[in-house]
Amino acid sequence: MVPINKTSIGVPTGLNDPKWNALKATLLTEQHAHNVESKCYRDTTINALTLLYKDKCAICERKRGMELQVDHYRPKKPRNNTTNTQYNQSGYYWLAYTWSNLIPLCSKCNNNKSNKFPLVGWTNTNRVLSHADVSGATVANHYSLAWLHQQEQPLLLHPEQDRQFEAHFSFNNDGFIEGRTPQGIETIQTYKLNRNDLRRERIKIQQNYVTAINAAIDEYSTNGNESEFRGALIATFRRIKKNMHQSEAHSLYHFYIYRYFDYYINSFLPLGLRPKTLQYFNQFKAR
Ligand SMILES: [Zn+2]
Repeated sequence: MVPINKTSIGVPTGLNDPKWNALKATLLTEQHAHNVESKCYRDTTINALTLLYKDKCAICERKRGMELQVDHYRPKKPRNNTTNTQYNQSGYYWLAYTWSNLIPLCSKCNNNKSNKFPLVGWTNTNRVLSHADVSGATVANHYSLAWLHQQEQPLLLHPEQDRQFEAHFSFNNDGFIEGRTPQGIETIQTYKLNRNDLRRERIKIQQNYVTAINAAIDEYSTNGNESEFRGALIATFRRIKKNMHQSEAHSLYHFYIYRYFDYYINSFLPLGLRPKTLQYFNQFKAR
């Protein structure tokens, strides 16, 4: 997960098209009974969201070979589960067509989250229940992501509202992601970020770097050419650094690999070449 600045682009014009005015008006009168029109919120925003999120799922950062889906961060419907009422008893019907409430997810993250929306402390005390104040008047705050975030303290992290995701997560070198805060723990659990497909991708990323460096080590063992060895290592170090960029898949994981190279990569190399490889890596990092 990486920070995204949605204010850098405007609301897609299709979502604000006057042809939806009547639909949006019925949303506020019908509330939970409203039949949400996906043509309005999905078809008009999917391209802008895909572009803004660099073709990646907002949560798991997968990129390759998949279509993104438009998810309501605050679920539009209540969670009909009487044993887990703390999740989301009421739903956020009024945000069904609100740009700031829409994020792109892969189908697996979307299905896993469903309409769960837990808050800090697992209490409904701070949950905002309607688009209106006690007098029944529509309240602008109730559409503001920042205000809602402050009011409710959600446990699910949001790329457009939260920051410093490295403080919320850490990765083991066997592909497991761990939460370091209550928000990190709940985000991992809700979206199932330790599911097999994601763990496999993380392990594969790590193994690809180890394999590339091992090939350089084999070559070096044969020809003893120091500058060629150093050049091959630097090519791999550059790949890791490039993949930390926010536009790349699994960029947060790459951030960890780059920061803790010794743990993720070096510890899988032949013992005798670890000090030299680490030395070259630290030199590369210091440049
Ligand atoms: Zn995902």
